Amino acid sequence: MNNQNRIGYFGKYGGMFIPEILRSTFDQLIRAYDAAKSDPLFWNEYESLMQSYSCRPTPLTFAENLSDHFGGARIYIKREDLNHTGAHKVNNVMGQGLLVKRMGKSRVIAETGAGQHGVATATMAAKFGLECTIYMGAEDVERQRPNVFWMEKLGATVVSVTDGSQTLKDAINAAFRDWTANMDSTHYVMGTVCGPHPFPEMVAWLQSIIGKEARKQILDLAGKLPKRVYACVGGGSNAMGIFGGFLEDFEVELVGVEAGGKGIKSGHHAARLASSDGHLGVCQGYKSIFLQDSDGQMKDTHSISAGLDYVGVSPILAHLNETKRVRFEAATDQEVLEAEDLTIKREGIIPALESAHAFVQAYKEAPDLSVKDAIIINLSGRGDKDIFTIADAFQDRKWREFIIRKGEQYHA
Ligand SMILES: *Cc1c(COP(=O)(O)O)cnc(C)c1O
Repeated sequence: MNNQNRIGYFGKYGGMFIPEILRSTFDQLIRAYDAAKSDPLFWNEYESLMQSYSCRPTPLTFAENLSDHFGGARIYIKREDLNHTGAHKVNNVMGQGLLVKRMGKSRVIAETGAGQHGVATATMAAKFGLECTIYMGAEDVERQRPNVFWMEKLGATVVSVTDGSQTLKDAINAAFRDWTANMDSTHYVMGTVCGPHPFPEMVAWLQSIIGKEARKQILDLAGKLPKRVYACVGGGSNAMGIFGGFLEDFEVELVGVEAGGKGIKSGHHAARLASSDGHLGVCQGYKSIFLQDSDGQMKDTHSISAGLDYVGVSPILAHLNETKRVRFEAATDQEVLEAEDLTIKREGIIPALESAHAFVQAYKEAPDLSVKDAIIINLSGRGDKDIFTIADAFQDRKWREFIIRKGEQYHA
């Protein structure tokens, strides 16, 4: 059977694996999304909201010191870290907020692991006057006290999920149960380009604001298209966002970087596409490549960055990997810390540990490119949130004890 023409499929990946009871809600969402997509007023409203609320267009910064340091390609950094709430996630949630208003719903729910998507969703709900419930695994609630604090201050109800392993996948199940019970009033805010149709396509469309801007900016600044564009890949939304601006420019090579964790061979990683440990499966409502054992059981993943520590990956990226439009690589925790340190010292920019994965691969390849080449790295978010992890990793004697002690106070 040829899946290519079936709705919500990208090659053999994607689809809509949902309980029958949610069918009418998904149909409503698909109608709202289709209408928004064919209505230029929606995109105008979205763009001006993001300008006034989230500093868009975010700058494209020429990293002169790093370019000279490596002596090869000229390095440009797309500054999604300068968004409101500190990362690209806000693009997606504000766009979905506009759709919620169009659908006339009054409540949003979401699940969050590290808490970043929860904070972004609670921010959107406050801005739009929506009721908001955030599901979090009980263990994650303990690990992410500052984010839980802000979600509650923003007016959200945070539900600590004590089922199963008390982490993200249990929170996803709880959120779906809520949606099934309250679908007339409630929209489920998917955080990345995964899940059942129309989420992958819809979130990629909203995040494409990054790539649309970046393409214009590099033509202005460098006078030509980049040789390569680098982005880290968790679920894949910041990557699809920036790649979206260049997909039809076949001379631009697109590079996605996954979490190599403690090394691919160690088995402790989240490299679904860059390793041979990923296999076709259906999970959480969509068909894609998941890290599974030979019985099809989902494996535990590991990354130094919570945002890349995920067992599945966007069906769109799985397809772009298969068709070789995007090349996938992995960066280890150790390499990420080195790239983090170098970026901070040379440019005065603190990348999120997620984003630093993209920097690793760009730094590996920049020296072998010509000074006439430009490359873009998508800086998906700022690293302030990673203060405890980074201090711990560098064993920074002067600060370590102080910061860790503060961290324990937070986590206590
Ligand atoms: C959540 C997050 C990611 C991973 O999500 P994607 O959907 O793959 O973009 C990457 N970077 C930052 C800063 C994040 O907060």
